[in-house]
Amino acid sequence: EIDVQTAISWLNKANEKMQAEKDYLTKLDQETGDGDHGINMARGFSEVENKIANGNYETCADVFKDTAMTLMSKIGGASGPLYGTAFLRLSTALKGQDPVDEKAFAQGVQAALEGIQQRGKASVGEKTMVDVWQPIAAYLQETSAIEAAQLEKIAKEAMEATKDLIATKGRAAYFKERSKGAIDPGAASSFYLFSALAEVLK
Ligand code: ADP
Ligand code: MG
Ligand code: MG
Repeated sequence: EIDVQTAISWLNKANEKMQAEKDYLTKLDQETGDGDHGINMARGFSEVENKIANGNYETCADVFKDTAMTLMSKIGGASGPLYGTAFLRLSTALKGQDPVDEKAFAQGVQAALEGIQQRGKASVGEKTMVDVWQPIAAYLQETSAIEAAQLEKIAKEAMEATKDLIATKGRAAYFKERSKGAIDPGAASSFYLFSALAEVLK
């Protein structure tokens, strides 16, 4: 079950990780992009933490809605609208579901994945954050009790697998064959997001 407090702890833990991994995410984005992904994520999630600290929430849907709006308005770059859409879809799917059970959460993450894909027009295997969100959505849908270690492992392996892919979407696509060999920055930040969730569910 995910209640309002769990949702808030998840986002705060995600912020902690984005701050800690800011330079690493930037380094990844220097290899296949414009080198701002660490800055984007660190700024976006620190604004999310500030925003939700000042709110008085009764539902997870409201927490995720404010998260979405904050990420959309505070992150310049492709990842802002993509993460923003993900949290907005999650919020919409969870309306009236508190406390959120595993099944509802799984459906919410699936809706978030579909939102990212509609917005970015990317499918699996194009070396984007979709390559992490898709296996996570699939895992959540097939399990009735989320195992933190399993969640973390799936996200980590999915992130690492983006190394061998050639980018065909986003800035990394300009690097063509040369994008091979580097982890996709958005896949890495998505791994930190789900690893933060795994930690709060432990
Ligand atoms: P920008 O590329 O505008 O500088 P960021 O560096 O913050 O934005 O984010 C880049 C990440 O966004 C990529 O690593 C990738 O995971 C994700 N991304 C970019 N374009 C797309 C897309 N069309 N579909 C899905 N994800 C995308
Ligand atoms: Mg970038
Ligand atoms: Mg940029």
